[in-house]
Amino acid sequence: MSRLFLRTLREDPADAEFRNHKLLVRAGYIRRVAPGGFAWLPLGLRVKAKIETVVREEMDAAGAQEVHFPALLSAEPYKTTGRYADYGDDIFTLEDRKGVEYVLAPTHEEAFALLVKDLYSSYKDLPLSIYQIQEKFRDETRPRAGLMRGREFTMKDAYSFDIDDEGLDASYDLQRAAYERVFRRLGLEYAIVSAHAGAMGGSRSEEFLHPTPIGDDTFVRSSGGYAANVEAFRTLPPAPREIAGLPAATVFDSPDTPTIATLVALLNDRHPRGDGREWTAADTLKNVVLALTHTNGERELVVVGIPGDRDADLKRAEAAFFPAAVEAATEADFAAHPVLVKGYIGPWSAAGPVLGGSSTSGIRFLVDPRVVEGTEWVTGANEPERHVLSLVAGRDFENDGVAEVAEVRAGDPAPDGSGPIELARGTELGHVFALGRKYADALGLQVLDRNGKLVTVTMGSYGIGISRVMALLAEANSDDKGLAWPRSVAPFDALIVAAGKDEALFEAAERIGRELEQRGADVLVDDRRISPGVKFKDAELIGVPTVVVVGRGLTDGVVEVWDRAADTRSEVALVSVVDRVAALLEG
Ligand code: ATP
Ligand code: MG
Repeated sequence: MSRLFLRTLREDPADAEFRNHKLLVRAGYIRRVAPGGFAWLPLGLRVKAKIETVVREEMDAAGAQEVHFPALLSAEPYKTTGRYADYGDDIFTLEDRKGVEYVLAPTHEEAFALLVKDLYSSYKDLPLSIYQIQEKFRDETRPRAGLMRGREFTMKDAYSFDIDDEGLDASYDLQRAAYERVFRRLGLEYAIVSAHAGAMGGSRSEEFLHPTPIGDDTFVRSSGGYAANVEAFRTLPPAPREIAGLPAATVFDSPDTPTIATLVALLNDRHPRGDGREWTAADTLKNVVLALTHTNGERELVVVGIPGDRDADLKRAEAAFFPAAVEAATEADFAAHPVLVKGYIGPWSAAGPVLGGSSTSGIRFLVDPRVVEGTEWVTGANEPERHVLSLVAGRDFENDGVAEVAEVRAGDPAPDGSGPIELARGTELGHVFALGRKYADALGLQVLDRNGKLVTVTMGSYGIGISRVMALLAEANSDDKGLAWPRSVAPFDALIVAAGKDEALFEAAERIGRELEQRGADVLVDDRRISPGVKFKDAELIGVPTVVVVGRGLTDGVVEVWDRAADTRSEVALVSVVDRVAALLEG
């Protein structure tokens, strides 16, 4: 340790918000050198390498083979697949001296597809799974939390290549199972959630989320085992209801009621319900006007009818309308569409249907899944200061489709019937995607099938955030005093501390270290000629799982074995300490 490139710090770094970030910097594992960029110090590199080893072993066991690509790639293929535009400002771009455009790859689908295209030509070559562990670059808007969200970070990215859908399914399942083994071996809690495939396209897509209050993602889960991203949550639609016998739609005056709250107050005041129940916001239909910008640049206004007790969730709307960009309609949008009477919008007016079905407005009218046939609503009559009672879905208005843009709430039923959901915070450890043929199509990755016919290969892509995993392991395995690594990823198996001034302590510490090394352990010896108190503080901070303290007891032939995570100490005879620690390592 007297020669280790390490400076531990007593103070938290000013820019660090979370414990993992503070401790990894203070204990000398990483050092910030750029916004979202970290230098890896010797201790940090060791932990990262151990995480990589677990990932490599499971990738290899799943039949994937390791390769390695540059991070600096031609922009052209990313333009061909459309990802250059889809990533937007998140992608780092640059030009070489000849003015040729490059990217610092955010992931490598294009590069892997082109390599396989370059080398393979027949169905006999498939299936193939290849992976790399490599640095990725993304110009994140909010690089934060140290390794949790960097602008340069380490990822394991694997890609599968198959001739048909069954093959892709099998490759996907192999990766998914490998992920479960990786996170189990690392001792990281995870929930597998169905995800929105976002800019990647494709069909099957699941995220491995680590539940943690410091996560960026909100996800939903039921006690019955359902888990999903908020964006991917599907509302359980109620059964359609009988329309016959429902009262006719009636328009009523509703002066100065541009909001749901004012409308509900007016209803209870002037139009009490026959059944004695109070009107609530859930009885009203809120018509949210969204402006979509399609990938060809075209702007389209759509109206979505959602129960009035819910707000629209823009992220869910983005997922629902992907790949179009979504924003709330602006004053200019309303000005351009005078058919929509702001504050009093509805699919129907006394003059007939305004939105949806056979209406002539040309504006698409989509509805929340809860707006099923036979449901009865109070909503705008699409005239200033007028609303309508008993507007019945399927009788008075039609829709042009269903859209999931309403917010998700704790207590909503899980779509698989496994009970009410709760909202939890988490962060993504990894992601498995069945991409399908989007990339292979765009890049012309085809092989000859059994009948000599050219067919497009189907792909999967599978990422694990290695550096983020390290941050989460640090967060989960630490206390206020420092890190406490699990054995599977600890930078050293044991730390031997010579605690005192006597030369014999140093000699004994060195000897224990050497003997443990001969038994296959990675050992660090604290041979610094400084006070024992500082050494103990550093031992607590650095978090090596087993610490052997060679101190005053040496003259009586005893040393102390300290379990950092459990914070238990026991006296052990000097003659048996090597056996004792070696046994701990073997588990
Ligand atoms: P997030 O939603 O957290 O931004 P993502 O959906 O952008 O993640 P992917 O593109 O699926 O992530 O990348 C695969 C894995 O790489 C993620 O599961 C995550 O563990 C890791 N990762 C993504 N972005 C970062 C980052 N900026 N810093 C560190 N790790 C990251
Ligand atoms: Mg991201």
